[in-house]
Amino acid sequence: MTDKKAETAAFQKKLFRWYERHHRTLPWRDCVDPYKIWISEVMLQQTTVQTVLPYFAKWIKTFPSVKDLSQAPLQKILKAWQGLGYYQRAKNLHKASRIIMDTFKGRIPQEYKELKKLPGFGPYITAAVLSLAFDKPFPVVDANVRRVLMRLKGARGEANPKNDKGLLDFLSPYFPQKKTGVFNQAMMELGALVCRSKNPSCLLCPLNDFCQAFKGLLADLWEFPGGKRKSGETLEEALHREIKEELHTEVQSEKFLIRVQHAYTQFQVTLYAYECRLKNMPRLNKNLHRWVTLRGMRHYPFPSGSAKIIKHMEQSEKIHGE
Ligand code: SF4
Repeated sequence: MTDKKAETAAFQKKLFRWYERHHRTLPWRDCVDPYKIWISEVMLQQTTVQTVLPYFAKWIKTFPSVKDLSQAPLQKILKAWQGLGYYQRAKNLHKASRIIMDTFKGRIPQEYKELKKLPGFGPYITAAVLSLAFDKPFPVVDANVRRVLMRLKGARGEANPKNDKGLLDFLSPYFPQKKTGVFNQAMMELGALVCRSKNPSCLLCPLNDFCQAFKGLLADLWEFPGGKRKSGETLEEALHREIKEELHTEVQSEKFLIRVQHAYTQFQVTLYAYECRLKNMPRLNKNLHRWVTLRGMRHYPFPSGSAKIIKHMEQSEKIHGE
């Protein structure tokens, strides 16, 4: 296997495995019903998953198939859409359902050119329906995927659909020929759950080995002083050694605070947090260190594991302060 082939295989394997373990269960997922996929993707444009869930359930109950939708009066359709906004989406669903009934005998077309001609089928919806329902090899770029790709590529500047061509070229060697729907959903889910616009969980990301932004983003995160326990050391011995090495001072006394388990793709890390009293003021490097109160910590970005420790300290302060 060439290096590039091996890299592609590793990328896909890590992404698929992460998706299998972590994806949210949603009513339009794990199904290949093109009608449900179409409706959900149209609803999800400009609207959050949480808002869409009850609308989707009610819609499928009221209009269970393309045929039911095509025969319903527009007023009934607009009523079912009420509250989702951008009503043109509902009108286009109605128009497209009629064309599907009249021209395609009720079957949603599987050809890109045919599908793209239907009302409301832009490049995004067309690619989403074809890949998710029919496993056709079309990559999907929504706002979440655009952000993931920009970071993987190390692209700078504002995310802009006008630059999608460059992102698609970058994605092309990683894009599979089979399971394209799962791949697209995994990328969207990764953007929604891990590679969030604020505070991405890079340490938990299955693609961090392939990401140009990984080091840069982590370099912007803060962490507590400490380090890795060496073989044969107790936790306390490791704590004393690390503080001495990092801050050039000694721990006078320590109190165990919390144990945090952190799941990576291939292994787990356990963090042990201690509250310490120091013998002397540490020698600080102002580029690397900050004295920060517990309250002030919320203004500093931390990796997810450290964020759990801060949450624990805030909760115990609340309990003891009451
Ligand atoms: Fe996004 Fe971080 Fe993963 Fe890169 S490593 S894709 S920035 S979550």
